[in-house]
Amino acid sequence: MSERSFEPRHSVCPYCGVGCGIEYAGDGRATGWKAPVNTRGEICPKGAAAWEVVDHDDRLRRPLVRESGTLVTAPWGEALGRVETAMRDIVDEHGADALAFFASSNCTNEENYLFQKLARVLGTNNVDNCARLCHSSTVAAMSARFGVGAMTNTLEDLTEADCYLVTGANPAEQHPIIFRSYLLPAVREGTDLIHVDPRSNDTTDAADLHLPVRPGYDIPLLNAMCKVVLEEGLVDGAFVDERTEGVDALRDHLADVDVDANAEMAGVDPADLREAARTFATADRAAAFTGMGMSQHHCGTDNVHALLNLVLLTGNVGRPGTGVNPLRGQNNVQGAGDVGALPSVLPGYEPVTDADARRRVADAWGVEPPAEPGLTEVELTHRFGEEIRGAFVFGENPAVTEPNASEVARAFADLDFLVVLDLFETETAELADVVLPGSAWAEKSGTVTNTDRRVMRMRANAEPPGEARRDLEVLRTVAARVTDRPEAFRYDGPEAVFEELTGVSPLYAGLSYESIGDGYGRWPFPEGAESGTDVLHEEEFAAGEPTAPLVPVDHVPPADDLADGDLVLTTGRVLQHFNSGALTRRSGTLVRMRGEDVLQIHPDDAAARGVADGDEVRVANDRGSVTVEAEVTPGIREGTVFMTFHYADPLVNTLTGDALDPEAKIPEYKHSAVRVEPVE
Ligand code: SF4
Repeated sequence: MSERSFEPRHSVCPYCGVGCGIEYAGDGRATGWKAPVNTRGEICPKGAAAWEVVDHDDRLRRPLVRESGTLVTAPWGEALGRVETAMRDIVDEHGADALAFFASSNCTNEENYLFQKLARVLGTNNVDNCARLCHSSTVAAMSARFGVGAMTNTLEDLTEADCYLVTGANPAEQHPIIFRSYLLPAVREGTDLIHVDPRSNDTTDAADLHLPVRPGYDIPLLNAMCKVVLEEGLVDGAFVDERTEGVDALRDHLADVDVDANAEMAGVDPADLREAARTFATADRAAAFTGMGMSQHHCGTDNVHALLNLVLLTGNVGRPGTGVNPLRGQNNVQGAGDVGALPSVLPGYEPVTDADARRRVADAWGVEPPAEPGLTEVELTHRFGEEIRGAFVFGENPAVTEPNASEVARAFADLDFLVVLDLFETETAELADVVLPGSAWAEKSGTVTNTDRRVMRMRANAEPPGEARRDLEVLRTVAARVTDRPEAFRYDGPEAVFEELTGVSPLYAGLSYESIGDGYGRWPFPEGAESGTDVLHEEEFAAGEPTAPLVPVDHVPPADDLADGDLVLTTGRVLQHFNSGALTRRSGTLVRMRGEDVLQIHPDDAAARGVADGDEVRVANDRGSVTVEAEVTPGIREGTVFMTFHYADPLVNTLTGDALDPEAKIPEYKHSAVRVEPVE
């Protein structure tokens, strides 16, 4: 622990998208306060350990620059000078589109707004954030159908549901306060919980019905559920007539679907599938939750389209206790997209191709953003060393989080210049030419937007350690040096940045720090309304239309073919850790898993390979291999194995593939063919 002293101030947890209020009271652990989401002040083990990240001995305290192949400490002036020279040289020689900007869904709205503004003032839309890797397909499908890619409902009104369908998510471990404070009490009061997941986990323990779907076969399963609804007369006819289009085309498309055959293809019991469809369709209010098990496929957008068909056919949109509710990962994954840290949209999701939107932005910035959409995160990495010559990575760790990690490491080495702004010397920072030491959650003020669209305030109660600086100040300084518009980056603190954002983004119009206070503002704010919108799509969809289309979708085979003896590797989180682990691996409080990580394998698959519980096994494919301890458990379906993605060693993303969804460009993380064998 450091000798720094701290006054407790209300802030927001830096981990998941639930957005619990936390503060530090000087006793070595963060505590919850009675905040908008965790209304009794309850927090999970990650939130309680959040202070350890702030006060950790491994925090970067001085800038680092690369000298003769090694990162060495340097004064800020030298580090910033190198950033300015390198970025200006790249723009002069290759143009602004030779730069890539990786924003952070773990940082504030103000920081992400400034970051995307930096990219666009320089002249490129090559700015993306790691939501690309988790829910971009969900956002793509929901935007196309409903007009906006966000939770349709609120955590409070979802407690009124009679049925929850949780697909490809494990909220008991990944969003613990949502689960314990909202979903579980409703389930205990009688709400049916259907869990669709290849693995039994803590969410399954509370479920009435578990469909252990084969990874990559969500569309056959959801199409079959729609077929049951159509066959058994369970369609909400009035809703379908008034609020949807295309039911006849969908009915025709599903005419040949054999429910039993689809259930077999998806690896679930046909009777259970039928029961799930009936339970969902006959509930007065049924709500769907969707997670990365659905979105992280090279057909992730179509997976979500299939789910939206089920929800629309049964009339479950636009009312309390219903809807489609993506559970977002990091604490500001919703906000990073809202404020424009995406390559094809400006703040407020206005397309960069919209000349009026660009002009509105230009009025505030003095510079018009480019009209051509930029490249997405994995597309950018694939072009490192070719048309992309330099990158600025802010608060993300793509060397660990991107798929096909060996290729990613090679790609980073091909860059002319890489600058990283972070708290720790992450695996990505180790590859950088310049590393700038930034600020942790308790050292920054600003806003974040949680999974149910609440914009909430974070408040600083600590100074960054050593020579580290606040992220917003670092970004402002870099922007003033590398662009020709330093005056466009003069702000008197985060509130001034937020004021500009609310003027530029229609989504955040009407919000202010004062109006948010210790509460929240929930977007959108219709003109003339005093507060935000709880349930979306009540009278018309956010796209401005009274109806949403039903969209026929076909099964898309997984990208990896399975050879004889191969198993399917799928990945996920556990309660104690978070994403690349940059913020939780260092925690001394959080419980460690057995060894560094384990491979969950079904007893029959283990026996066929001579693997016993606790044995070391090699997991390999053409992309790479890792060695881990085996955990033999019937909790994972036969033919599938599971690892977390929290660790740099073993680095599971050495094994995952980089086939991309054609629409959202999200990689196929959840289905990788692997061989598993004991280590002799
Ligand atoms: Fe933090 Fe999420 Fe845990 Fe709440 S549920 S304390 S936001 S990690």
